[in-house]
Amino acid sequence: MIVVLDEAQAQADVAGLALRCPGCSGPLRRWGFARTRSLRSSGGGRVSLRPRRVRCASCRITHVLLPARAPAHRGYMIDVVGQALLASAFGQSHRTIGADLGVPADTVRGWIRRVKARAEWLRVQGTITAHNYDPMLPAIIPAGSPLADAVSALGTAAAAMVRRISLLAPPWQVIAMIACGQLLAPLRSG
Ligand SMILES: [Zn+2]
Repeated sequence: MIVVLDEAQAQADVAGLALRCPGCSGPLRRWGFARTRSLRSSGGGRVSLRPRRVRCASCRITHVLLPARAPAHRGYMIDVVGQALLASAFGQSHRTIGADLGVPADTVRGWIRRVKARAEWLRVQGTITAHNYDPMLPAIIPAGSPLADAVSALGTAAAAMVRRISLLAPPWQVIAMIACGQLLAPLRSG
């Protein structure tokens, strides 16, 4: 899986060899499409999308070009997930968040659990990215909980990236990229 901000740009990058295999840096070729997905957006509407697949000409592994706005394996767009995580960072319960966003409370609880379980990795990923894009950035102040610290570091990183490379993308899509699509990845059991 390769998380991409702009699907049209990613296809151009594949054609122009600017986007290469994350495993071996080999050239990528178009390789059909992944299955069509239908996701709920924050307005309550549905968005249907069909991510493109690419295949590495060297190692022959296929990758999905996953748009950052559509988290892997989730039925909701990233902005809905982001609003839920932000509310959780501010101490709201999964029930309140679910009622506010029109998302089942159990679904919200699942997102929060996954982010909590990898909060330290996300915080480190955010902190490193933030300082890569802005070496003058002051230390990120602890926000009060592991989840809040992770959200704060990722938000700081997204802002630093947007400033540095004049990125025109919603913050949670940038965060999805910084998290390498791992924000809501399933937890390893055992
Ligand atoms: Zn490869």
